Amino acid sequence: MNDTARVIIKPRRARPFYARHPWVLSNSIERVEGSPEPGAEVIVLSHERKFIAHGLWNPKSTIQARLYRWEEAPLDQAFWLDRVDSALGLRSKLPGTRGERSARRLIYSEADGLSGLTVDQFDQYLVMQFTSLAIHERKELFIKALIDRLSPAGIMLRTERGIAKREGLEIEDGVVHGTIPDEPIAIVEHGLEYRVDLRTGQKTGFYLDQRENRLAVSTYALNRNVLDVFCYTGGFGLAALKLGGAASCLGIDGSTTAIELARVNAERNGVAQATFEHADAFDALERFRIDGRKFDMIICDPPKFARSPNGIEDALKGYLRLNRAAVAVLERDAILVTCSCSGLIDRGLFVEVIAQVAEQSGRAIQILEQRGQAPDHPISASCLDTEYLKCLICRVE
Ligand code: SAH
Repeated sequence: MNDTARVIIKPRRARPFYARHPWVLSNSIERVEGSPEPGAEVIVLSHERKFIAHGLWNPKSTIQARLYRWEEAPLDQAFWLDRVDSALGLRSKLPGTRGERSARRLIYSEADGLSGLTVDQFDQYLVMQFTSLAIHERKELFIKALIDRLSPAGIMLRTERGIAKREGLEIEDGVVHGTIPDEPIAIVEHGLEYRVDLRTGQKTGFYLDQRENRLAVSTYALNRNVLDVFCYTGGFGLAALKLGGAASCLGIDGSTTAIELARVNAERNGVAQATFEHADAFDALERFRIDGRKFDMIICDPPKFARSPNGIEDALKGYLRLNRAAVAVLERDAILVTCSCSGLIDRGLFVEVIAQVAEQSGRAIQILEQRGQAPDHPISASCLDTEYLKCLICRVE
């Protein structure tokens, strides 16, 4: 290990890394001793040359070193396998993600000490996502570990947009093990069946992070006429109807393929009171306002509005406009379920937006439940960047 390059942290900048935050940005680095190749292992030391952690190097990324091991031992195969086993061990004990044809997140990047690797399981198939060049270089090890432990029928590689630019990582999506069906496969969540397109569906195919929220929200739905804006393949709306006894549900989404799958999902679950419409959510809400059409429950789960710190202001305006438009078509004494998956907007800021909605619409809003992401998407106490999903269940007077 003596030829392992050393990354020396600037004075007074080492605190977060001792505290196990895994991202060393270039502005914290004083110098590098040695000439590590992109993807190579490095040892991170304080200014006084005190050991901090072992990490992986990528000078092409803004995260120049990702930290994995805070003890003086190398990032060898046994270490990586132990990380994988720890992640799988957690999931094997979590409620709500077991059973026939279930789906769950098996590995969630920083939250599982594996910054740069995400793995979701859909029944007997796995979908892997790499967001770090160095972890991608070790992909055979991870693929083999998953095959040995889970014997999946197929593993699909999916890539997030923008990763080539952020990490200098060029990956082609594709099947890396076994077979992946061309047609959507079926998973079961809370007893409902959903079709998931592993090849082209959004994210890795299904929004697993909202699993527990779909169940919680359904308990407020009895006899209500529900509007599910940004419904994707119908997750919230179908749960509201089938589990919660909603009177009706209209789902709106801007993706035609999502709407097609939502209709298939409604049919497969024998849900007749669901209708799905392809439309822009803002346009649809404006149309309902003009037509005087009202709902007594609205679920509002938009895509990420804030993609960079520069985008926070605009994102907050977007959430304000959207939630005002939703409240404008809510009956008196109704339920608003409002979500934000922008990690850059914290819970406090999001609640402030809802307070502004109350002020501007002249209606009292009470938060009944403040919810987050499902437990198979844990939040690392040392890396709060892993917390992103806010789901507020509110009563609007
Ligand atoms: N609630 C869903 C997940 C929603 S993800 C679930 O539980 O599965 C966000 C959705 O918003 C995506 O399906 C995307 O297609 C849709 N979308 C993005 N922009 C939109 C817009 N302007 N109008 C309507 N839908 C939009």
